[in-house]
Amino acid sequence: MSVSPTALIIGASRGLGLALAGEWLARGWTVLATVRGAGRTALHELADSSNGRLTVETLEMTDPAAVDALRDRLSRRALDLLFVNAAVANGASERVDRVTTEEFSRVMVTNALAPMRIVERLGGLVRPDGTIAVMSSSLGSVALNETGGWEVYRASKAALNMLMRSYAARHAGDRHSLALVDPGWVRTDMGGAEASLDTGESIPGVADALEARRGRPGLQFFDYRGETVPW
Ligand code: NDP
Repeated sequence: MSVSPTALIIGASRGLGLALAGEWLARGWTVLATVRGAGRTALHELADSSNGRLTVETLEMTDPAAVDALRDRLSRRALDLLFVNAAVANGASERVDRVTTEEFSRVMVTNALAPMRIVERLGGLVRPDGTIAVMSSSLGSVALNETGGWEVYRASKAALNMLMRSYAARHAGDRHSLALVDPGWVRTDMGGAEASLDTGESIPGVADALEARRGRPGLQFFDYRGETVPW
């Protein structure tokens, strides 16, 4: 009897994270996925129809004690994929000279520090030949920023990318495949109604790109078509 691979998706109550959970379920995987708070979400609905293959966990990802508690709850699990998806946005027109220190900190801590804490603390649960992926954005590319806008959000994703590169350098001997993923511009609460893609046009491509790189060590930054994104 073959055992199905296992994915842990952080931030799956709605949007791209919910679609990621659905995608790996459809591919026959066992899925663990997190929401924050006690309320019922669309992920719970998906779990109800998953024949027990989707388990909903709770995590406020900016709380280090909660990250440790999740790691302890999952300590007997071996993950084939850890995917840190959750993040927050702030305004397209938010300028760095006008943002409050509190808001700057909220975006940076949520989008750069919290994902890396999860990678650091839960990475040990990932099988040696497994994958650690973090949702980034083309807006986090320093090289591609010729138009400005989204200053604080861009900075948070650029910081995330840099921290993943530092992690990759520190773990150069690991066999883990490391990924920073740009999902494209997708119609979600964050992406908005004007976005060019729906989740069904983005997430299957993200999964294909990750599967194609499975077992290939080192860090890559690529989009939902599998194309490399410049740093
Ligand atoms: P949404 O705003 O639709 O969903 C964000 C998800 O992150 C929700 O599940 C939310 O949970 C969770 N979350 C936010 N903060 C926390 C926290 N502190 N702890 C735990 N969970 C948290 O965003 P998208 O689905 O659009 O985006 C998902 C990822 O894709 C993000 O990393 C985003 O930056 C990235 N991205 C999105 C693009 C797009 O066009 N949509 C483009 C490029 C990148 P809750 O429901 O509890 O708030």
